[in-house]
Amino acid sequence: MKKEIGITAYKCRKCGKIHYPFHDRCLACKGREFEQIKPEGDVTLLAYTAIFNLPWGFDQRFLILGVAEFENHVKAMGQIKAESVDQLKAGMKMKPSWEPVRVQYGEDVYGLKFEPME
Ligand SMILES: [Zn+2]
Repeated sequence: MKKEIGITAYKCRKCGKIHYPFHDRCLACKGREFEQIKPEGDVTLLAYTAIFNLPWGFDQRFLILGVAEFENHVKAMGQIKAESVDQLKAGMKMKPSWEPVRVQYGEDVYGLKFEPME
């Protein structure tokens, strides 16, 4: 079963800038009123990196992390399902999903994952 992506972003009611995570005041216009929005659609990969020496709780040897932008402009960071960064390039489309990313205190911790759409 596909789980809903557990991210809420905050859209400034004054200027429309989207914040994730939450900020007290809009980074663009200093407004204080926000509308909660959910990420929608597929994502476009903006940047990515491979990380070695992972903290406890990960059983992979390394992890590829990326920042991507959803169709409604929410930007978020997630794990990329790829064997190597050679498969990736900025601007490529990916499918987002909400899946267990690691185990903490014996329970799955959910997070964002991106899968390249080939
Ligand atoms: Zn604003």
